[in-house]
Amino acid sequence: MPDELLQRLRKFHDQAFPSYQQDFRNLVSYGQHPTTLFVGCSDSRVVPHLLTGAGPGELFLVRNVGAFVPPFDGSAGYHGTAAAIEFAVLSLAVRNIVVCGHSHCGAIRALYADLSDEAVNLKAWLDLGREARLPVHEPDADMLRRTEQRSVVLQLDRLLDYPMVRRRVDAGSLTLHGWHYVIEDGEVHTFDVRTGHFTPATLASESSIGLAPVESEPVDPVI
Ligand SMILES: [Zn+2]
Repeated sequence: MPDELLQRLRKFHDQAFPSYQQDFRNLVSYGQHPTTLFVGCSDSRVVPHLLTGAGPGELFLVRNVGAFVPPFDGSAGYHGTAAAIEFAVLSLAVRNIVVCGHSHCGAIRALYADLSDEAVNLKAWLDLGREARLPVHEPDADMLRRTEQRSVVLQLDRLLDYPMVRRRVDAGSLTLHGWHYVIEDGEVHTFDVRTGHFTPATLASESSIGLAPVESEPVDPVI
């Protein structure tokens, strides 16, 4: 009796793949040309392809705990997220970078909690969100949401420290987008750099209200 994951793989091959076969073969023949780099949290409830209606070949994904962007510090270590950003911008020439945080994010909640001493990598990684933390010990739901949104803005700011990102944003060939996905509502709130607010996508007047070229000064969020 095959295990559950094996059964799922067989089901994909036998039932799902046939309807995508030509798409995948074209993507192999002509290569991938995704226009968007999606930096998302690893949380299992965030499903980028569902949110954006994207199909195979449309999103270049990098996911990590918290949807964090590490600093461009030139240390040339094993920086997976930084490497993905460089690849997406330099090799794939994406036109958009989305940083997508979300409601009920465990990484953001962990900014206010004590972690196991064994979690040495996780503790260090969470440093990338600490600036977003509010000066409270026990945040309520509203404070957590504000922290999640502040973190998105913090990561966008850090993205602009990547020279290849900054150059393209300034040149108008790359736009940064800050999103906060409210899982229970099925709604993404998009960051408007001009107002410093997140607006529900159903109410936003523009689909692209991230960091536009002329607005690329350091962000001062009001959230
Ligand atoms: Zn999360």
